[in-house]
Amino acid sequence: MSSDRESLRVGVDLGGTAIKAGAISASGQILERRSIPAELDRGPQDLADRIANLARELDFGETVGIGVPGLLDREAGRVIMSANLHQIDGFALVDAVAERLEIPAGNVALENDANVAALGEAWAGAGREQADFLLVTLGTGVGGGIVLGGEIQTGTGGLAGEIGHICIDPNGPLCGCGKHGCLETLASATAASRRARELDLPEDLAELSAQATNGDLRAQELLHDVGLDLGRGLAAATVLLDLRVYVIGGGFGAALELLRPGIEAGLEERAYGRVAEDYTILPAELGPDAGWVGAARIGQLRGQENS
Ligand SMILES: [Zn+2]
Repeated sequence: MSSDRESLRVGVDLGGTAIKAGAISASGQILERRSIPAELDRGPQDLADRIANLARELDFGETVGIGVPGLLDREAGRVIMSANLHQIDGFALVDAVAERLEIPAGNVALENDANVAALGEAWAGAGREQADFLLVTLGTGVGGGIVLGGEIQTGTGGLAGEIGHICIDPNGPLCGCGKHGCLETLASATAASRRARELDLPEDLAELSAQATNGDLRAQELLHDVGLDLGRGLAAATVLLDLRVYVIGGGFGAALELLRPGIEAGLEERAYGRVAEDYTILPAELGPDAGWVGAARIGQLRGQENS
């Protein structure tokens, strides 16, 4: 057993509604998973207690990785600002968890949720065989993670890959970031529901998708338009980075096949040269596991750096 335990990695994915966690073998095989309600109103210390308890229950080895939506100070292991989880703004989560687990702070890794999801897909999901790809998650917002040469790109301040805030329409709806017409105001799950409601179509996206699948032209047209905006956003990333592979995940990613014709039209409209012809759009494979799997992986990588 001891050799199994040494090769086991534990990751935690902190979301607005749930904390997902799990254990995965060093070779990328999922061994166990857990999910508990986030209950952030109980405060950050209570949150750190529960994260540490999850890690213990999963029999963590030496390292734990944590994915958090928001802007992070990786050096200090601190959450600077989380738009949807403001209860942990400014909280030194790494120290709090490391203290409870009685391990060095260097063995607890903190990373942005979209980046850990990208790393999860790169390690054990749809990006396994791709050196370079962009992960796009369609959920409450539109998240993005860039993988180049098998590694996630965080940029100077950790905000690289935030494709959700690429401008698609300067006169478009107001975004949570304070600007207008960002990709996520047009192509997130939230945006798609709003656009459906405006057209008297079902705002429940599973229902909308079913209607489109059953041949409803108006539902098909809306999903095409949402895909078109997404494709335009992907084109912007492509022109900048010469990417050819996109992995689409998040809850609304389930509608990929309905969005695909629009995405392709948007890409072909806005990208140029070979990148407008030679690309692959893949569905994410890990679903709700992507975040904690990538967090486990980053814990492992940082642990190796520190040892
Ligand atoms: Zn924005």
